[in-house]
Amino acid sequence: MNARICSIALSVVIIGAVGAAVVAQAPPHPRAAELQQWAIHDETRPMPPVVNPGPAGPPAPVPSDAVVLFDGNDLSGWTHAKGQPAKWAVRDGYMETVKGTGGIQTTKTFGSCQLHIEWATPVPAVGASQNRGNSGVFLMNMYEVQVLDSYESKTYADGMAAAIYGQFPPLVNASRKPGEWQAYDIVFHAPRFGADGAVQSPARMTIFHNGILVHDNDVLTGPTAHKARPPYKAHADRMPIGLQDHAHPVRFRNIWIRDLTK
Ligand code: MG
Repeated sequence: MNARICSIALSVVIIGAVGAAVVAQAPPHPRAAELQQWAIHDETRPMPPVVNPGPAGPPAPVPSDAVVLFDGNDLSGWTHAKGQPAKWAVRDGYMETVKGTGGIQTTKTFGSCQLHIEWATPVPAVGASQNRGNSGVFLMNMYEVQVLDSYESKTYADGMAAAIYGQFPPLVNASRKPGEWQAYDIVFHAPRFGADGAVQSPARMTIFHNGILVHDNDVLTGPTAHKARPPYKAHADRMPIGLQDHAHPVRFRNIWIRDLTK
């Protein structure tokens, strides 16, 4: 083999090796630096810019392959977190948190999914910051997308409406006024764990708030928590969807899910 051919062959080998290395190494999460930059619930972390999503519409259509989790009639698909019957109120096509009755969760379990859920915070608004229309949507009962009245209301950015609680504020504040129906469309990829319990791939979320992109494939650090960013612990592939009782009368309607694990 002459020197030129040898050099070309070597280049192919090197380029191939570099290509393999690029494939093998996941790209860094674009928002990972924010976790170093801002302490959890840092009051100085900037609130994202406000975007007016336009007026609320009627309930979104339900796709033919969706599982309906709440159709406005009853809580048959839900239980109290400790297994007793769910005690939230149901009327006029929505359910409403009843203070002190506790969080509720679906009777069915889910892993990776596309979740649609519509919600409204109390009107007239009462309270401030975290004490203003607080609830939450918990994927796998442990990864919270915050529900809060964040319309012209300040709180710590990683705890505002549509935040992945304690980790990532939404890219923009697409909140509607208290009492107006809002929607989350959440694409959730469940974390995967090896047989030894180590994380093989972390949880990821893409979220639209009132139709506006607020999380673009964000990579979660672990379960969400108050004043903590705990690490992952291996858990089941499928778990219930949870809704939080934070002692505020928050309403939910038109909840459906598409299973992405098949
Ligand atoms: Mg909450």
